[in-house]
Amino acid sequence: MPTMRPGLIDSHCHLSDKKFSSDRGAVIARAHEAGVSHIVAVGGGGPIEDSEASADLARGNETIRATAGIHPHDAKDYDDAIEARIKVLLARPEVTAVGETGLDYYYDNSPRELQRQALARHLALAHSFDKPVVIHCREAETDFFEVFDSEFPDGHPGVMHCYTGGYQDARRALDRGLMISFSGILTFKNSKDLRDVAKKLPLDRLLVETDSPLLAPDPYRGKRNEPAYVVRVAEVLAGLHGVDLDVVSKSTSANTRVVFFPE
Ligand SMILES: [Zn+2]
Ligand SMILES: [Zn+2]
Repeated sequence: MPTMRPGLIDSHCHLSDKKFSSDRGAVIARAHEAGVSHIVAVGGGGPIEDSEASADLARGNETIRATAGIHPHDAKDYDDAIEARIKVLLARPEVTAVGETGLDYYYDNSPRELQRQALARHLALAHSFDKPVVIHCREAETDFFEVFDSEFPDGHPGVMHCYTGGYQDARRALDRGLMISFSGILTFKNSKDLRDVAKKLPLDRLLVETDSPLLAPDPYRGKRNEPAYVVRVAEVLAGLHGVDLDVVSKSTSANTRVVFFPE
């Protein structure tokens, strides 16, 4: 593994997704060439096997860290057997956070009550393992904060990933110790409202991500997304804050390290 200058970090990539299975090594190499030094390989994009594969990608590779959980889309499948497997993963040092978990009332792929129950159980795991949380929240902010506050009345570290909400909810998240992460959606032409939100939030609490293989930023929209493209998200964020890309690289990387790369 060559030594790299500290660069950007893709704070949310489904690196274990089968869309990367034929060329995962090349995808990681392209990220490094583009100045993306580290990747968070999130679990929870599919079945529990995805979290286990993410953990295996992170084992013995200091530039990759993994998370373990079940996506709110799949909350209906959450049971004791899956939770036991998440616990095994959370005991591993390279698995540094719980998730992605949360609530998605836009797609409603699982009944809302089951989504809330699965979220509560993930948060309880984050509590007992003392690890941060990766939150997916879409059109469900009120319920999300209610569940979060009952487990963590004094807040807890983590990230609201692929943020698409408004300014007030972002502040509520920051007040609870969470960071805010922006994806390629920030670069889309019709995302002016989101860019206005991003502009007002403090750079020392923001992360960037691809959420790849989905959500490729402009000008790659519609193609398979990959970690190298997180540079586009960072460029747009830099423009919004009127600073150089280097400033955004340094601050988002530092913030991502706090959450996912503990010393
Ligand atoms: Zn998500
Ligand atoms: Zn995701």
